[in-house]
Amino acid sequence: MDNCIFCKILRDEIPAQKIYEDNDLIAFNDIHPAAPIHFLIIPRTHIASLMECEKTHQQLLGKMLLLAPTLAKEQGCTDGFRTIINTGRVGGQEVFHLHIHIIGSKNRLPAMIHKG
Ligand code: 5GP
Ligand code: ZN
Repeated sequence: MDNCIFCKILRDEIPAQKIYEDNDLIAFNDIHPAAPIHFLIIPRTHIASLMECEKTHQQLLGKMLLLAPTLAKEQGCTDGFRTIINTGRVGGQEVFHLHIHIIGSKNRLPAMIHKG
């Protein structure tokens, strides 16, 4: 995808602080971290969002999710972390290349969902 910012990171056309890569996935620090630890896991394949995922992506999605705790621990999340996948306009997605946010801190993160 020519104009996708994450595809440009994958092609090394723009720099990123990569923390992991393999044949299917890469992970890199978020440019505007929401907490002391904030990185993104993305597939090498351009998939716009979770809405575009199909049965054929099951293994890839499982791999992304399983990588989260491994990298989170490596990055210093010893006592938990938050995973977020923003999807589409309603989900507040800004970059339309599937990604999981992993966010961690020494202290408890603020509540994300305020119940009525
Ligand atoms: P979304 O709102 O789509 O779930 O999150 C997109 C995330 O990508 C945001 O947290 C934003 O800070 C991050 N981001 C956007 N552009 C870049 C970039 O060029 N490099 C890096 N490392 N992160 C980016
Ligand atoms: Zn892309």
